[in-house]
Amino acid sequence: MKEEDDFAICHKCRSRIYKNPEKRRSADVRLIRDNEHCSICNNLLLMEDAIFALVKHKIRILDVDFDSFIMACQINSKKLLKQEKKAYKRLKYNGRDDINHHLKRDIGVLIAKKMNKKIEFQHPDVVIMLKIKDSPFNNSPYPEVSNVNVFIDTNPLFIEGKYRKMMRGIPQTKWPCSHCKGRGCEECNNTGQQYQDTVEGLIAGQVLPMTKGNDTKFHGSGREDIDVLMLGDGRPFVMEVKHPFRRNIDLKFLRRLINSHCDGKIEVNDLKFTDRERIGSIKNSSTESYKIYRAIATFDRGVTSEDIRKIENLHIINQRTPIRVQRRRADLVRTRSIDKIEAERIDSKNIILTIKCQGGLYIKELISGDDGRTIPSVSGITNKKAICSQLDVLKVHIPE
Ligand SMILES: [Zn+2]
Ligand SMILES: [Zn+2]
Repeated sequence: MKEEDDFAICHKCRSRIYKNPEKRRSADVRLIRDNEHCSICNNLLLMEDAIFALVKHKIRILDVDFDSFIMACQINSKKLLKQEKKAYKRLKYNGRDDINHHLKRDIGVLIAKKMNKKIEFQHPDVVIMLKIKDSPFNNSPYPEVSNVNVFIDTNPLFIEGKYRKMMRGIPQTKWPCSHCKGRGCEECNNTGQQYQDTVEGLIAGQVLPMTKGNDTKFHGSGREDIDVLMLGDGRPFVMEVKHPFRRNIDLKFLRRLINSHCDGKIEVNDLKFTDRERIGSIKNSSTESYKIYRAIATFDRGVTSEDIRKIENLHIINQRTPIRVQRRRADLVRTRSIDKIEAERIDSKNIILTIKCQGGLYIKELISGDDGRTIPSVSGITNKKAICSQLDVLKVHIPE
């Protein structure tokens, strides 16, 4: 009978377990008196003000800026979990609403109300994690909840835009040094990078300090070779910023900053915030997407008007994966169509081709024929050796 008298619960645990007011009144369990501890939560749920103060303290010292959040909770206290389980057994409670859920809910509501933030399940800006241990955490500012700690993880920020590349020799994404594989060596001036400038790096150089993020991942709507310019209104991309502590940044200011620092190498436009789902739609070419290229084809032994007429009739191309990209792409034959191809003579050996085609057609190989791997090709139908001596992308069109 002695044990029976010791068992008492707090009003929070009682309202959680007995949601029906009728059952709550008739329940055979008493509430805790002053200086007693709840036999389920050990008074953890009564500490909500101190835990909320802890969350505010953490947000302040991390200086993290967010609009929406989701709560997470990890109870690593074996003592508490054991006590909770034992109490539920005694009260014959087998609902799923436990201390963990209750604490997340209560603290979440306080953050939402008092800090004017939004609870968001799909795309929260941050995850606010509460961790509860048996023993105190070091340097806890609130002794009454020293066994509780707060961790804040920020979700990536996604910025969509279009880039133009006005200088040759710049790859799209970070490219680790081939000597040291990115560790940093003499060859690469300890940068770990093969190329000093990349489209990604030039953008990240401004985005990272502004968002206080720690890394980027670049998602382009395809890519051009290092030696190819990206002109027209640019290539769509999504820049993923990892662990940003600033999200409400001024994109107009960011654009000006990037464009002035890049000094005519690249330029970005139409910056806007987007979400992870957009990456898939800019990467996967649909039937509506197309590309326009401008290429200079150079013929060893000159080019005739009859050759030009044949070139302008190229339409369906069967292209086996080019030798130069074979290491990165599966070796297979792809069929791509050309909507329109126009040729303009520069001199007896050189013509400019303007090609509107489906995404995924390799233009350098369309001209050279790639040793018979691209059929038909400019070299093949004219029976004359031709190479692509210069290439620019004029348009990358994707559905909005
Ligand atoms: Zn309780
Ligand atoms: Zn290196």
